[in-house]
Amino acid sequence: MKNSPRSSVLIDLAAIRHNVAHLISLLRPGTRFLVAVKADAYGHGILPVAKTVAKAGAYGVAVATAEEAVALRDAGLTSTILVMGPLYSPDQVEEMARRAIDFAVVSPEMTSMLRTLRGSGLRARVHLKVDTGMNRQGLFPSQVPSFLAAIRGIPEIQLVGLMTHFACATEDPASVDFQLERFLPVVEKVRREWPGIIVHAANSAATMCAPHSHFDMVRCGCAVYGMSPWQTDPLGSGLQPALTWRSQVVLIKRVPPGEGVGYGHAFRTAQLTDIALVPLGYGDGVFRALGNRGEVLINGRRYPMVGRVSMDSFGVDVGTEGRVRVGDTVTLIGADGNDRITAEELAQKLDTINYEITCDIALDRSERLFINGDD
Ligand SMILES: *Cc1c(COP(=O)(O)O)cnc(C)c1O
Repeated sequence: MKNSPRSSVLIDLAAIRHNVAHLISLLRPGTRFLVAVKADAYGHGILPVAKTVAKAGAYGVAVATAEEAVALRDAGLTSTILVMGPLYSPDQVEEMARRAIDFAVVSPEMTSMLRTLRGSGLRARVHLKVDTGMNRQGLFPSQVPSFLAAIRGIPEIQLVGLMTHFACATEDPASVDFQLERFLPVVEKVRREWPGIIVHAANSAATMCAPHSHFDMVRCGCAVYGMSPWQTDPLGSGLQPALTWRSQVVLIKRVPPGEGVGYGHAFRTAQLTDIALVPLGYGDGVFRALGNRGEVLINGRRYPMVGRVSMDSFGVDVGTEGRVRVGDTVTLIGADGNDRITAEELAQKLDTINYEITCDIALDRSERLFINGDD
């Protein structure tokens, strides 16, 4: 791959279609499938992902902010868009209603903002978010009756959804049942008055391991991108990673034994060796903590990252066999030959999760290419 850019992120839309189909196959027929595309689709590109999943059978997409939702509408996305995070003003509430964007009511303050809709002639599509144990956003079950009283009989406010969010679906499946115990009485009560309401709770982990939590719709993020909620190899869960991150070798130098390499001389050569320079650093989203710990693939082989990661580059010890040359492709995430490096592998080294790895790739310093689109 000569003349390749210094950093390219490849997004395989066929992998995303595969994952959507796999996840939908786990659902009872008729259960809706919503895809979380917040934070630029976990670093995968919000608009192409939103369009791809819409065609692949998703009911719609979910975002965190009003701005993300408006950008998707402006770009021509016609499917359901749900804003899951808070709105901050009555103006935002009105704008969501005007653009037919669904939003979650996550606080008593937001309930008050809904008053602005009275007499406006607009139709706001509202999902009530119930806090059943996350203790972050949402109304506690005890606060639900006053919410219902506040919106009852106001034609501008359409209660279309009832949702909750699991705190530990990944770590502890039993916690799902604990939260459902708090959620179910609310579901029963609200359904009596709003029989057509869409009830939803499950994230990727619960979609894959707790079918009794699916209700009328599931909300999947990471699994759609082929990332495991359990930080294990996604292939083992029937998922295909969609993201590949590549760079290239820009320079190789032969360094004598006993020399320090890079800032702080955090690595010292034990013997004569070749150090290949990769022109990516923490300014590009290569975690600094990967210094002396990470590995990359070059020509199908694994090589260690040596020394500290700088802002714009890091070194790789490629030995003296001459197998690696300037211009060779370096894979940071993805497959090369028979080997592959997953976001989960990096996350385990860094004591974080795969989502953070892909979200942190700096796209202002990288090109992003979408492959296997269906149009
Ligand atoms: C992000 C998010 C999801 C999706 O979570 P994954 O674990 O990535 O599947 C679902 N629901 C809410 C409220 C979210 O914020």
